[in-house]
Amino acid sequence: MAAPKMTLRPASGKRHAQIRTSPDPREVALGHGGVDAFDRLRDDLVLAVLAGLAARAGGPADLATAALTCRRFRELAAYPAVLSRASAAAVAVRAGGWSEAAHRFLRWCAAAGNLHACYFLGMVRFYCLGSRAAGSALLARAAAGGHAAALYALAVVRFNGSGGGKADKDPRAGVALCARAAWLGHVPALRELGHCLQDGYGARRDAAAGRHLLLHAAARELAAVLSARRRGGHCRAEDDDGAAASRFMVEWWALMSAEKPAAAAGEGCSCGAGEEDAEELRLCSHARCGRRETRRHEFRRCSVCGSANYCSRACQALDWKRAHRGQCGAAAAAARWLAAGNAY
Ligand SMILES: [Zn+2]
Ligand SMILES: [Zn+2]
Repeated sequence: MAAPKMTLRPASGKRHAQIRTSPDPREVALGHGGVDAFDRLRDDLVLAVLAGLAARAGGPADLATAALTCRRFRELAAYPAVLSRASAAAVAVRAGGWSEAAHRFLRWCAAAGNLHACYFLGMVRFYCLGSRAAGSALLARAAAGGHAAALYALAVVRFNGSGGGKADKDPRAGVALCARAAWLGHVPALRELGHCLQDGYGARRDAAAGRHLLLHAAARELAAVLSARRRGGHCRAEDDDGAAASRFMVEWWALMSAEKPAAAAGEGCSCGAGEEDAEELRLCSHARCGRRETRRHEFRRCSVCGSANYCSRACQALDWKRAHRGQCGAAAAAARWLAAGNAY
């Protein structure tokens, strides 16, 4: 789905016209023959309808289409009362449709206090656009509002010291953030917390408690798969509130990689790689994650084959179940073969 071509006004109260909360007596006096019934609807009623539409929107196009219906809808759809209610799907812009208009729409939603937009734009800015400080601030806003995926995203940042150096790794803060996200029902955070307790990473080692959390996470993942099958949908155990941001990042890096030849030919690169050489930065090997290193050798490698890189142990465990279990042995054998001097 393409990004919405939004023409909404900024979510700033100063720029909005005074909303009408009661019918204009002159219009009522005209009766049915003088004024369109829609024009006689109070603005607060129209706002309530638009807010309900935004809360149930299945994609960014739903709200954009409503805003394009008429001038009044366009103006009222830009009110914070509407933008703050937009659903996670309503702000889930696709990477292929990324534009200044889509960026502006997300900024307005975030400014209106929409936690989904704060999280989504925070991830896009931090990982894709290279705006680490702005991205972190947005993720922190979403996390402060109780957004579980944002709490987990900040945990991954703390575990890896993303956006900084090795010295910026803070496992204890990562564990604390994971615990809050897991408490809110975030399954990857629950899995990460289980690994941390099992290994004593960022927390006092408690193997039994770690195993218990890992079993609990596996049960939750299985329940999600079975539930999706019953509904006839896709079976994605790792589906959560952050799936849309991951999908954006996966698509973004695929597009950047496809555009690389053009950039090399002198058109420049807009990937926001920042200070590091983009060629050296690796993507998380979990195909549905989309995170990319913010410095060289930031992500942990698979200790067996050394050819897979992961932003977190949750991603490593999910990728092991999805794909790497069947690839790791072959990759390790190929590495040993090369190390034995068979390459030419
Ligand atoms: Zn990952
Ligand atoms: Zn491996």
